[in-house]
Amino acid sequence: MGTAPDIAPAGIASRVNRPDQPPATFEESRRRIERAAKFMPGGVSSNFRIGMVPHPLVFERAEGPYLFDADGNRLVDYYLGMGPMILGHNSAPVRRAVEQQLERGFLYGGQSGLEEEAAELFCAMVPCAEKLRFCSSGSEAVQAALRIARAATGRRTVIKFEGHYHGWFDSILVSVAPQADVAGDRAHPTPIPGSTGQDPTAWGSVEVLPWNDLPLLEARLAVGDVAAVIMEPAMCNAGAIFPKPGYLEGARAACTAAGTVLIFDEVITGFRVAPGGAQQVFGVTPDLATFAKAVASGFPVAAVAGRAELLDVFTRGAVHGGTYNSQPVAMAATVASLRALADGSAIASIAPHGTRLMQGIASALKAAGITASVTGFPQIFHVAFGLSEPAQEWRDLLRMDKARYIRFCGALLTRRVRALERGAWFLSTTHDSLAIDETLAAVAEAARDVA
Ligand code: PMP
Repeated sequence: MGTAPDIAPAGIASRVNRPDQPPATFEESRRRIERAAKFMPGGVSSNFRIGMVPHPLVFERAEGPYLFDADGNRLVDYYLGMGPMILGHNSAPVRRAVEQQLERGFLYGGQSGLEEEAAELFCAMVPCAEKLRFCSSGSEAVQAALRIARAATGRRTVIKFEGHYHGWFDSILVSVAPQADVAGDRAHPTPIPGSTGQDPTAWGSVEVLPWNDLPLLEARLAVGDVAAVIMEPAMCNAGAIFPKPGYLEGARAACTAAGTVLIFDEVITGFRVAPGGAQQVFGVTPDLATFAKAVASGFPVAAVAGRAELLDVFTRGAVHGGTYNSQPVAMAATVASLRALADGSAIASIAPHGTRLMQGIASALKAAGITASVTGFPQIFHVAFGLSEPAQEWRDLLRMDKARYIRFCGALLTRRVRALERGAWFLSTTHDSLAIDETLAAVAEAARDVA
């Protein structure tokens, strides 16, 4: 085991990275990842951490908008645990709620009052949520939603969209990031599995369409044999792409007419872009929606929510289980998180900082002569190098200059700003003017580096 470096306290006085600091280095992280790789493939526990630049980092502590790594660097964090930490790292009310529950036990194999409280708060916030079922990851919530849809309709076919991610399971890891040479016709994309080792029969009833193209979706649904349409209501995994005006409304109407279950995957947008997620922002209510990430501030909680008669298939033959579902400590975190997010003021408070950051990044890139499109919500936006117009679907994103963006992220990291290599920027309620100032200074320099 390596020795922990001295870590500066996260008090306001120590917050600003000094301009005279030398570039950050990550040697201790590199050494630890190398050692860890003896026991864990790639030294990590998720494939999505393998490709990080310059290599995966090892962290000692996190507070507010900052991460403190094994090399003693203090980084302004825009990964936010891949999205969950909307209240900032180590949020005091969530920590207190968790500590209180820890005194009372970790897992009961039965119900806790916290679970009912969390469910009631959740259903009050999310438009589609008459009932919900808790589980432990977004991938699982999606599986539960697909099972509900097939059980309720007695149909098999599921439509998903190119570039949308709904978890890593065999049944749905299809056409998440297909390259142009294999993706086939735009109007009739070839389903492309995302992993080796996937059972082709598991995704055999999944059909893929381009997103944001209503006539194609309407025509397919009109056949009348589709169990479910699943989509990110704003496409936030790859890019941050808004639905075209009328697209969600049209999809809603076509699903209703065809007896198809409309599923919004709100694992990223849920409890982040509004208390009721993207369905609240866009005013379109799906039959089911899946949630994870921001619902519990970093604890492993997810849920499928929706119309009561659909959720009730779990009392009529459809099965969904899980030892850790609604684990009480995680439920304590859920209740505290939802209380903090319920009235919308916390989420709204992010908007001015997020907007300033989006505009600041756009103008720094322009000043450096880099063509880029900065799109999305102030709470989760995306920077696409190489695009002069906002993308509307996955195939537009294939024109991105990914290699240069990855170099940009590397240049930011040596200036102690940590942004996701795929272009997403997550903000929290703790990213205040000081954190944004620091970030924009780093952005201007990093842009010049890669111009
Ligand atoms: N759906 C969406 C939209 C996601 O962004 C993710 C995770 N990035 C998932 C599903 C899967 O969630 P998890 O990683 O918790 O399994």
